[in-house]
Amino acid sequence: MRLPLLNKDDPSSVDLEQFCRMTDLFLERGFTYFDTAYMYHQHTSESFVKKALTQRHPRESYQLASKLPTMFLKKPEDQERIFQEQLEKCGVEYFDYYLLHNLNSSTYPTAQAFDSFAFLRKKKEEGAIRHMGFSFHDSARLLDEILTAHPEVEFVQLQINYLDWDDAGIQSGKCYETAVRHGKKVIVMEPVKGGVLARIPQEGQALLKNCRPQWSPASWAIRFAAGLDSVMMVLSGMSDLEQLEDNTSFMQDAGPLLPEEQEVLRQVREIIRGSIAIPCTACGYCVEGCPKRIPIPSYFALYNADHQELTKGANTHRIYYENYARSGGRASDCIGCGACERSCPQHLEIPRLLKDVAASFEA
Ligand code: SF4
Ligand code: SF4
Repeated sequence: MRLPLLNKDDPSSVDLEQFCRMTDLFLERGFTYFDTAYMYHQHTSESFVKKALTQRHPRESYQLASKLPTMFLKKPEDQERIFQEQLEKCGVEYFDYYLLHNLNSSTYPTAQAFDSFAFLRKKKEEGAIRHMGFSFHDSARLLDEILTAHPEVEFVQLQINYLDWDDAGIQSGKCYETAVRHGKKVIVMEPVKGGVLARIPQEGQALLKNCRPQWSPASWAIRFAAGLDSVMMVLSGMSDLEQLEDNTSFMQDAGPLLPEEQEVLRQVREIIRGSIAIPCTACGYCVEGCPKRIPIPSYFALYNADHQELTKGANTHRIYYENYARSGGRASDCIGCGACERSCPQHLEIPRLLKDVAASFEA
């Protein structure tokens, strides 16, 4: 989802050379799990996985996960068409893990109507997938409903990090406990919350450094998620070789956090909560359906940077804003249709927040 880019404004410009080096080092260090999806990097992620991984390494040396894009399904037959396309793009004959992508209150009815769980069961019987599950961004109540209706699901992929653990909207902790109650293994996504927990305020950084001088802020976040008993995998979303070096070094022998370390994270959580204006993870799910082509995550990132202690009020934010607005819509172009909000895993009130962005950068 967050591969290295040659041009940071073009999600499809993946830096293949660096990605190949990252892939090789990851495998050399004993890690094997790769997670991709149909829509990542403007629908090119799976093809880059083929170039960096599946064409260059033996099939038994890695595990590959991909996802059926429930948000793009228009009719039941789309499932077979997309699945075959994914196998072809990835250059494999089966997926080790295959998920219904981003189940929530608007995509679950589609999955039910198109019998998507039965589709995954059939693919499993055919040997085209080894394990079936779904990724999820909604309430613990809906998760309970889905797992009750579909006990055949083997695992769930949840957004879990120390900032969202007791958040009333994301409900990381409640969702985790729901999955455990149903006896499911958990794969963690967004353990670093789209990089937010790698760039925490100075005051929080000082607390972490004081407790464990050698640990990076990102490593604290990943250790928190990995230390939960029912977690079988943590997807840390590494974007360059340096991040990969960091993650793979400490995860080779990381154990659960000690009680005093948990207490430090609790204090850091409060500091961060006071500093982030818009908790967007830059997943990009909102962008595709926007009729005004507003680059929502880019504007939110600029807005956050403009409100953070280290970068507050820098002139470059406004310059960047004008640059983005030349090729997409302005924040004030939002017509409030709500398409973006329905696909936002973080449940952000995007049209309202865009008004704040417009007030900051268009005044
Ligand atoms: S509400 Fe605004 S930002 Fe969201 S999809 Fe509609 S026009 Fe785009
Ligand atoms: S606004 Fe929501 S959907 Fe859009 S990039 Fe941010 S977190 Fe993702």
